Amino acid sequence: MTKTKNPASEHRSGTVAIVGRPNVGKSTFLNLALGEALAIVSPVPQTTRNRILGVVHRPGAEIALLDTPGIHKPHSRLGRTLNRTARHATEEADVVIYMTTPSKPPAGLHPGDRTLLADIGAGKPTIVVINMIDKVRDKGNLLPLMDDLSRLRDFAAIVPISALRGDGADRVLDEAAKCLPLGAPKYDAETLTDRPMRWLAAEFVREPILQWAREEIPHAVAVEITTFEEHAKGARIEATIHVERDGQKRILIGTGGERLKAVGTSARLRIEALLGKKVHLALWVRVTADWTESEKALLELGYGGDG
Ligand code: GDP
Ligand code: MG
Repeated sequence: MTKTKNPASEHRSGTVAIVGRPNVGKSTFLNLALGEALAIVSPVPQTTRNRILGVVHRPGAEIALLDTPGIHKPHSRLGRTLNRTARHATEEADVVIYMTTPSKPPAGLHPGDRTLLADIGAGKPTIVVINMIDKVRDKGNLLPLMDDLSRLRDFAAIVPISALRGDGADRVLDEAAKCLPLGAPKYDAETLTDRPMRWLAAEFVREPILQWAREEIPHAVAVEITTFEEHAKGARIEATIHVERDGQKRILIGTGGERLKAVGTSARLRIEALLGKKVHLALWVRVTADWTESEKALLELGYGGDG
């Protein structure tokens, strides 16, 4: 039996940025690749507001995935900050996963993708992932898109997947691993993310609000953890939910506080599942007028510092 099949000198490690337009399923893919619901997911665009590192440990490769905010036409300082975060993550990465979705047949490449792919990932190994193929009944309808893509650039691979159904992540990770530079692992085998539990707790409070709320509320919400005390048997967490206007505060609290209570229950269960212990969670809602336009408030609420 030969033992030289996978010597340490052939180990690969590096960073892979997951980028694309908003709502194409980047965070759903990160969670699938990690086997852990780390990044929050919702039907509203700009759900992801930070660069989120998630480490996939494989026998021959360590793949440090960077989830990023969707790149879009910004309408606020927050929006510009999110775009910058995504672009910086892309510049920092060794490999780029550019995620897109099929448009209505028989359409090819989305014009937004054409604009972004003019420079995103240029000069780096780039894997195009076509997500949400569960929505395409006749797979032949993917051909115009595949055709447009292969004319655009010499991509390392083009991989159709369905992140929602859990199909295709392994193929994407195989392709990403092949493109990584040779190198020893940088993280220990238990490391899942660089994001502390305190940050994840804030995201888990934001998630049920985004999954439920309509209109402008999702974009006006930021969550700040004001108390985080963890002990052997449990944790006590207090969080302030910032909104921009009084009307938003009223809607978020709901009649008799029932809406806020539902948010709290959902967030608490999510935090308890990841922490593995009982959590006491108290939520407060505060109006912080125009925080999405204030550079100081953005930094204080944790946006832009990572990009
Ligand atoms: P992101 O903004 O690119 O990070 O997208 P999210 O991961 O937050 O997903 C946006 C929405 O698309 C959510 O409602 C997901 O459940 C949904 N979604 C993600 N992947 C798929 C998929 O493969 N198929 C379908 N049908 N929906 C998906
Ligand atoms: Mg996301």
